[in-house]
Amino acid sequence: MPPQRRRPAARERCPASVPLVAAAHPPQVGAPQSCDLAIVGGGIVGLALAREMIRRNPRASVCVLEREAELGAHQSSHNSGVLHAGIYYTPGSLKAQLCVEGARELYRYCEARGIAYERCGKLIVASTSAELPGLRELQRRGAANGVQGLRWIDSVEIEALEPHARGVAALHSPTTGIVDFSAVTRAYADDVLEMGGTVSRGCAVSDARLVGRALRLTHTRGSTEARHVIFCAGAWADRLAVAAGADRSPRIIPVRGAYLRLAPERRHLVRSLIYPVPDPSLPFLGVHLSRDIHGEVLIGPTALIAAARDAYGLRRVRGRDLLDTLLWPGTWRMLARTWRTAATELRHAARPSSLLRVAARYVPELEDAQARPAFAGIRAQALGRDGRLIDDFVVSSTPRALHVRNAPSPAATSSLALARHVADEAERAFGLD
Ligand SMILES: Cc1cc2nc3c(=O)[nH]c(=O)nc-3n(C[C@H](O)[C@H](O)[C@H](O)COP(=O)(O)OP(=O)(O)OC[C@H]3O[C@@H](n4cnc5c(N)ncnc54)[C@H](O)[C@@H]3O)c2cc1C
Repeated sequence: MPPQRRRPAARERCPASVPLVAAAHPPQVGAPQSCDLAIVGGGIVGLALAREMIRRNPRASVCVLEREAELGAHQSSHNSGVLHAGIYYTPGSLKAQLCVEGARELYRYCEARGIAYERCGKLIVASTSAELPGLRELQRRGAANGVQGLRWIDSVEIEALEPHARGVAALHSPTTGIVDFSAVTRAYADDVLEMGGTVSRGCAVSDARLVGRALRLTHTRGSTEARHVIFCAGAWADRLAVAAGADRSPRIIPVRGAYLRLAPERRHLVRSLIYPVPDPSLPFLGVHLSRDIHGEVLIGPTALIAAARDAYGLRRVRGRDLLDTLLWPGTWRMLARTWRTAATELRHAARPSSLLRVAARYVPELEDAQARPAFAGIRAQALGRDGRLIDDFVVSSTPRALHVRNAPSPAATSSLALARHVADEAERAFGLD
């Protein structure tokens, strides 16, 4: 823990003795030839769901098929690590309901499993009076969604909570926190194994075909016939849904979010989480400052359409991914509406100093700070044929299967509640016992 880090006494943290990293990955096993339920995708959503399905159906055989050698290798390990309180989301939406419930459950889960977390609180700062109507709308949404303790504060209180931040007003959310979602993902995987499920890594599913009363999944380890399948494939969700007979819309567009890491001697500028008032026309929260569970201060993320669904390096291009984006009518309809934002994002991606300048609007001393590129995550953003960026979680069905077709932020925070929601849908669509 860096010496500059000062914490208000009210903050709630897990005990210092708790390790930051959970159990190691489960041992490598082959994929079963048949099972009652297969879950495709070993990210935080797929593993939370596998855990929930086994709890509800202890006699059913449940397997998770994950294409990478490691679990949670994509969005679940490349994110801001923020346990959201549920402020931003349209009241009545799945996100609003499942984020508020999911955050509460995830805090309890981390406590029970000894996973490091910190209920550090967050500020959403209006830098100018022009942003006040947007901030009021967030306050209205937060109240409607049942977010606990959300408070409107003035510039004096902003400085009391974050001495280096400046703004005309802010919302303070004391229940927002930070956690390492990779550790949560691995803990879910441990639960799945303990309850008798199997997890096969290095098992990329390429096709799904109805064969009698089962779905046959073709994958790199052979094939698995499952009575039912739930696909939780993140950035590849649309491809597997289409292979199983679903509509081509929405398509997944990879949106790269890169972060900068603040130099250690400037970390004291940020105590916890400082966010801007976001652009309401986009499903992203804007460039924010976040202190992660390991004590580093991150600045970002950017939001740039990527040329590959795993474009962790800016130059990675995959022909099929690029064509899927370029040939989708929704891409051009969206760009016709958002080209100004896209141009700004291009600038942020090209020049770290441009990203720092954005953050300096609410923490002025960042203007001349040193920051190095940290890492990037790829958002799996569902985009309709009509160019609409789909904001809410989306679950759809095909014969013998359910598909999680859009699980963007705050799906990691919501994972336990989202798993319950999808499990309820599965019970309605197909029972396992
Ligand atoms: C930059 C960024 C910042 C974010 N910040 C936050 C945050 O602060 N708080 C928050 O709550 N959320 C945040 N999110 C969102 C959150 O990370 C995701 O919503 C969540 O991780 C989605 O989990 P998932 O399991 O659906 O996806 P993933 O973690 O991407 O998992 C999908 C899995 O499916 C596997 N898969 C794909 N295709 C196949 C196949 N054919 N066969 C087998 N397996 C396959 C993949 O390998 C992958 O492991 C952020 C996301 C990004 C990108």
